[in-house]
Amino acid sequence: MDYDIAVIGGGPAGIMAAIASGKTSNVILLEKNSSLGKKLLLTGGGRCNITNNKPPKKLLTFFDEKNFLKTSFYTFTNEDLFDLFDFGFIEEDNNRVFPESEKKLPAALL
Ligand SMILES: Cc1cc2nc3c(=O)[nH]c(=O)nc-3n(C[C@H](O)[C@H](O)[C@H](O)COP(=O)(O)OP(=O)(O)OC[C@H]3O[C@@H](n4cnc5c(N)ncnc54)[C@H](O)[C@@H]3O)c2cc1C
Repeated sequence: MDYDIAVIGGGPAGIMAAIASGKTSNVILLEKNSSLGKKLLLTGGGRCNITNNKPPKKLLTFFDEKNFLKTSFYTFTNEDLFDLFDFGFIEEDNNRVFPESEKKLPAALL
């Protein structure tokens, strides 16, 4: 099969790039590990801290590159992110968001 686009690296950035470009093109996602998103799964102590649910205006205050990030934060919101999944999320202290399963990775993988 021929592909229009090759995305190298199946972390969160690569996964999202493949999903977005896959809507209009034939895309192959190449990952050197045995599964996608291994580092993402390590976040939040192994519970996958998928995002922070502060409003974009507040989130932007934490970054120097405000102008660069502003369009992204307002174009693809946390609600858009949650809509990609068929499970729910829980929000904890400091607006950190985790899958509602609260499934922890085995300690050996942390
Ligand atoms: C222990 C730990 C805890 C963390 N906790 C948090 C947290 O609580 N909250 C938070 O927001 N962030 C956290 N982070 C940061 C978060 O994991 C990263 O910001 C995020 O994973 C970056 O995503 P990325 O897609 O840019 O890169 P990565 O997740 O690094 O993905 C890059 C992918 O590319 C693959 N790759 C690289 N080279 C090649 C190649 N030549 N061919 C094929 N594949 C290749 C890699 O194997 C990897 O899967 C944590 C990170 C770590 C390590």
